[in-house]
Amino acid sequence: MSTRGNLFIVSAPSGAGKSSLISALLKDKPSDKQVSVSHTTRKPRLGEVDGQHYHFVSIEQFKALIAQNAFLEWAEVFGNFYGTSKRVIEQTLDKGIDVFLDIDWQGAEQVKKLMKTALGVFILPPSKSELERRLTGRGQDSQQVIDSRMAQAVSEMSHYAQYDFVIVNDDFDDALVDLSAIIRSQRLTCASQQYAHNDMITDLLAD
Ligand code: 5GP
Repeated sequence: MSTRGNLFIVSAPSGAGKSSLISALLKDKPSDKQVSVSHTTRKPRLGEVDGQHYHFVSIEQFKALIAQNAFLEWAEVFGNFYGTSKRVIEQTLDKGIDVFLDIDWQGAEQVKKLMKTALGVFILPPSKSELERRLTGRGQDSQQVIDSRMAQAVSEMSHYAQYDFVIVNDDFDDALVDLSAIIRSQRLTCASQQYAHNDMITDLLAD
């Protein structure tokens, strides 16, 4: 698999602001970065668009995709299946576009094993009370769902140390600057710069 584009894994407990941060990031120069659209067996929430937020599929369709080896990784999260399409990631990275995977720790673990150059970023909320406030503020899920997600959040957060970077999303703008800095620095590694400026470097080094 090519690593011309950089692969970023972004994980967080539900309500930490991960999706908003990724969306804000993609508004700036959207041509050089893309978020991977996962497949899921979860039902769409209000306002979610098939093919844009997720590819919503049945359990049978999901199992068929597993059998076809279509996923780079897949996992069961909150009783639903989620998976990342291998083909789309490969094609996008091949075009030199950075790809963001908004996936859980189980998926992150699988991707890290397969792609050593993938960078993991974990987003933490500033406190449990703020996390609960954000989950309740969404107004889309029942209290039972919120309680269960709070419990899952602790479990998800316990994996933060497996990631390369940790961002505390207390102030949204600060967290966005932090995330942008990680991406920018990754583009400045020797390997990335060699790819981006191949002709220029060849010319500079010519006798
Ligand atoms: P939600 O249902 O709230 O959109 O997502 C629930 C959790 O599933 C989030 O932690 C999200 O990052 C994770 N998730 C979404 N897509 C994928 C995927 O393709 N693979 C894995 N492993 N997790 C995913």
